Amino acid sequence: MIIIIKPGSRQEDIDQVIKVIEDVNLRTHVSAGQEKTIIGVVGDKARLNIEGVSRMSAVERIVPVTESYKLANRRFKPEGSHFQIGDVHFGQGEFVMMAGPCAVESEEQVDATAAAVSAAGAKILRGGAYKPRTSPYSFQGLEHEGLKILRRVADRYNMLVVSEIMSEEDIEEVCKYVDILQIGARNAQNFRLLSAVGRCDKAVMIKRGMSQTIEEFLGSAEYVLNEGNERVILCERGIRTFEDSTRFTLDISSVPVLHEKTHLPVIIDPSHAAGKASLIPALSLASVAAGADGLVIEVHPDPPTALSDAAQQLTPETYTNLARRIYALRATLGTDYPVLEED
Ligand code: PEP
Ligand code: MN
Repeated sequence: MIIIIKPGSRQEDIDQVIKVIEDVNLRTHVSAGQEKTIIGVVGDKARLNIEGVSRMSAVERIVPVTESYKLANRRFKPEGSHFQIGDVHFGQGEFVMMAGPCAVESEEQVDATAAAVSAAGAKILRGGAYKPRTSPYSFQGLEHEGLKILRRVADRYNMLVVSEIMSEEDIEEVCKYVDILQIGARNAQNFRLLSAVGRCDKAVMIKRGMSQTIEEFLGSAEYVLNEGNERVILCERGIRTFEDSTRFTLDISSVPVLHEKTHLPVIIDPSHAAGKASLIPALSLASVAAGADGLVIEVHPDPPTALSDAAQQLTPETYTNLARRIYALRATLGTDYPVLEED
């Protein structure tokens, strides 16, 4: 359930509400929005005197949240999440471009990519150092060395770093180098990993599992939020369907659906969805039109020689061209995000 606090309530009265709830071993998460303060309550409410809480002076009303995801629920933050890392803003209508190679292969490769994509407006450098490959015989990534390259290059171009973490045991090391921890599609329901990154002081981008429903996807986000980490980004990257002309099927409708259901920013990865470079521009523009909060696109200085995902990576030139069209489309559309009234 969520508790809507009366506007203008004194902090000590709000603290009293929190105390009553925590006294019966429930957990509270406070969202202090511009217009409203909302307290999310999670746990078994059997021992809570809800009637008593509803009569406390700071309480405007109590709204039950029937969905399985509570803290990810749009009702908890009707105005949408917003957070900032360095000078990059996420959510509430801000738009972010993440770009970079599928895998870190060398400093020269990452540098050439970063130079081009940052000049074209990308503020976040992507690149896999730990690669979740379908075959154990494929290139597995440069691991620790790859992280160091990403950080050095990103600092050179004043960019943030997003990179995948595959295992709980790597958390301490990966956190030294990245700004955003990526949970890959194959780990989207690795609940121990999700909880562990929920205890980190880094933003988390969760990629949708290839067979995950939207409700299950929000369950993954809930694991991170429930540990107290509020900086969560959702990434739609295509789901498995019967269609085999693309690598996965990009679920464009997930953007407006997620915007209705959750306050979290929604980023689209057209690269892994399409699996084919020629399709990336159309899917990127469609994502922007659908209201995505950003895009993550794979770019490689020489795609045919890439050690992974060669077919889907854009050349720097194609990326630059596409970025221009993306910004032009954004400017034409303006931003219009739903702010839901609680019922
Ligand atoms: C990636 O972004 O590097 C990646 C492996 O994507 P996904 O987890 O969506 O397959
Ligand atoms: Mn890839």
